[in-house]
Amino acid sequence: MPCHVVLGGQWGDEGKGKIVDYLAAGAHAVVRFQGGANAGHTLVLGGRRLALHLVPSGIGHPGCLGVLGNGMVIDPVALLEEIASLEKLGLEVRGRLRVSSAAHVVLPCHVLQDRVEERRRGGSPVGTTGRGVGPAYADKAARQGVQMGIFLRPEGEARARLRETLERKRELLQALDPGVDFDVDAMLGPVLACREQVAPLVCDTTALLQDLLDEGRRILLEGAQGAMLDLDHGTYPYVTSSSCTSAGALVGSGVPPQEVAAVTGVVKAYATRVGNGPFPTELAGEEGDRLRQIGQEYGATTGRARRCGWFDAVAVRHAARVSGFTELAVTKLDVLDGFESLRVAVGYEQDGKKLRRMPVGAEDLERCRPEYVEFAGWRTSTQGCRSLLDLPGGARRYLDLLQEHAGIPVRIVSVGPDRDSTFRA
Ligand code: GDP
Repeated sequence: MPCHVVLGGQWGDEGKGKIVDYLAAGAHAVVRFQGGANAGHTLVLGGRRLALHLVPSGIGHPGCLGVLGNGMVIDPVALLEEIASLEKLGLEVRGRLRVSSAAHVVLPCHVLQDRVEERRRGGSPVGTTGRGVGPAYADKAARQGVQMGIFLRPEGEARARLRETLERKRELLQALDPGVDFDVDAMLGPVLACREQVAPLVCDTTALLQDLLDEGRRILLEGAQGAMLDLDHGTYPYVTSSSCTSAGALVGSGVPPQEVAAVTGVVKAYATRVGNGPFPTELAGEEGDRLRQIGQEYGATTGRARRCGWFDAVAVRHAARVSGFTELAVTKLDVLDGFESLRVAVGYEQDGKKLRRMPVGAEDLERCRPEYVEFAGWRTSTQGCRSLLDLPGGARRYLDLLQEHAGIPVRIVSVGPDRDSTFRA
């Protein structure tokens, strides 16, 4: 059972990229299984910063394959730009990247549709990243999508298929908003121009992964976004359009459940959320600003300021149960170093009733008030710590508190952005 799933246990941006990079040492492949260029992972390898959106976070390990699985939606133009920017930094990417022929293509009309639909939502937008991911998934579910295998077809056939899709989308968008228009051929050009470079990457990745598992190779399945943004188990409708759970990891890669040996839930030592939707432990005032400043909580994909708050053990318990976390990786512990006192939400109160579990859907969660336990801060730097024993006693007790209330053992701790500032607990 050499397969290890790594997932976001909160609202995304937990530092999954960094933990995947840490766990990828010795792995044969790292597989993205959902989402698209709406993800943004930052890796810091020996002071060098890598910004990843589509390319899996194992790319920092020379022998490791990066697989974009069938569950993803992929903007081919964005993919080639990302590969070029990584190759400029001296990484060999192309030869190590495989793209599922069953993954769906994000077209420029999806990006346009994303913006038009957000505009039409008026005062309550979802807060999407505007990368066309939601509309591409909607087309997939409506059986109107185009799969990456299109780039393996003869040019004329690919052109005709893509043109037909763009023409249909143009009609649809004009019905939504008569002010929206685009030139189909102008939009088609850059997509078809990707064909020659994308085609060699496209293959049957499900077969590839099954062969690797048969050979006993270790593979990592890398989640994007996080449990509270999951389409089915998150705070609908303020969610992403794919499944960020371990079940989603299987669907989006073609790996069967009995191959999974471990599921790591990555959580920050506090909580953040980008975009709209309920966030019970949000800190609106100065403390929130302080967390944002120290934690540098600005989106890697959009640059947007993240909403910040205290660790919510109710939300993490929910994530852990749905995905079967076997361990937690706690990141950004160092961000709390200077705080005099900390809080952890261990339950909610909703209309006078005490809740231990997250209610379903955004409206009910909006009415929940967190019940906190207070904790005295350790007021000492953890940045140079490289083992549990190096940590100040207060930081160790804080980790104990998190694992007690989350119900899952903390096995990995991160105290800085660099690969080296991660250790096993
Ligand atoms: P992801 O999408 O879950 O991979 O998370 P992001 O990459 O969007 O956000 C995590 C950010 O925090 C990145 O800029 C990381 O370099 C940084 N980071 C990760 N772990 C730590 C940590 O332990 N301490 C600090 N200070 N920064 C960290």
